[in-house]
Amino acid sequence: AVAGCVPTIHILPGDVVSRIAAGEVIERPSAVVKELVENSLDAGARRISVEVKDGGLSLIRVTDDGAGIGRLDLPLAFQRHATSKLASDQDLTSVMTMGFRGEALPSIASVSKVAVTTFTGRDAAAAHLTLVGGVAGTVTDAPPVPGTRIDVAELFYNQPARKKFLKAKSTEFSHISHAVQQAALAWPSVHFRLIHNGQDVLNYPAVSEGRDRILQVYGRTFVGSTVEVLGRATGYVVRGVVIDPVHARSAKTPQDCFVNRRPVRSSTVFHAVTGGYASLLAKGCHPTYVLYLEVDPDKLDVNVHPAKREIRFAETDRIHQLVAQTLRRVFSGPERTAATAIAN
Ligand code: ADP
Ligand code: MG
Repeated sequence: AVAGCVPTIHILPGDVVSRIAAGEVIERPSAVVKELVENSLDAGARRISVEVKDGGLSLIRVTDDGAGIGRLDLPLAFQRHATSKLASDQDLTSVMTMGFRGEALPSIASVSKVAVTTFTGRDAAAAHLTLVGGVAGTVTDAPPVPGTRIDVAELFYNQPARKKFLKAKSTEFSHISHAVQQAALAWPSVHFRLIHNGQDVLNYPAVSEGRDRILQVYGRTFVGSTVEVLGRATGYVVRGVVIDPVHARSAKTPQDCFVNRRPVRSSTVFHAVTGGYASLLAKGCHPTYVLYLEVDPDKLDVNVHPAKREIRFAETDRIHQLVAQTLRRVFSGPERTAATAIAN
């Protein structure tokens, strides 16, 4: 070996570790929106408003009317692996909250300038905290408005490399808009708003039926060309809408799949849907759908992807069978006319 070339090993400083870890969870502005909105949902919010400037690069502000964060807990919320949602790894087999890794807030804070105001109703005043690059100031008082407001400013200000890889502001905004729509589809009873550079872009008042939310998000033309599906097997439910084969087009969206309200990419579900159509789709036409799966949490591994976009089913075959059979039954049976009638 060449003398002097033996590298020495050292442990990376905490702030460097945080920024590297943040790279996995916070790829782009829409990831911030997804994480903040999921925190609001976990906090039981009924109204969530997302305001962004410049495709999320200057500012992302998420305001909710949820449970709030206790004054003493507030600095802790920005520590790595700090969560109120998981007590032991046993809980991972039954996790029903969107979050559980305790990584989003510290990751976001390490690559931006954060200001948070939160009120639980238990303290005399709301608590306010600012962080720059993850370094927290001290907690101060703010007027008591129930819920939480988090401002994420100057995202990636200390990550020039990451910033360079971002797309045009309009592209980043369309990812944000997609993230809000996905959350909205999974939570019809929550009022969602999205504002970009002061303009109202999305506004979905709370509705009680999942179908009505699909209508708000994708419009009457899409919903009118779908059929409703519902299928059950022990431990599993699948419901939602799929494009009526006669209305299928070359469009590849939406192809939305939610598992226990998480938006996920599932090749199993996509494959099963395609199988369910069998030869009913004309050449060049694609299946489009919005499907909600309910799965016993112990038949699911949600901890396989840092941004939780992927999950693992314990019984892939049963999911596949349920989805494919449900579609086949709907397309072949008398249910089909009934479902189409409801949709129109
Ligand atoms: P996780 O969601 O995995 O627990 P996060 O870093 O996203 O981790 O959030 C850390 C903690 O901060 C959460 O467990 C929760 O207790 C609290 N928190 C974050 N956002 C909110 C919010 N909008 N309302 C209430 N509590 C919140
Ligand atoms: Mg979270």
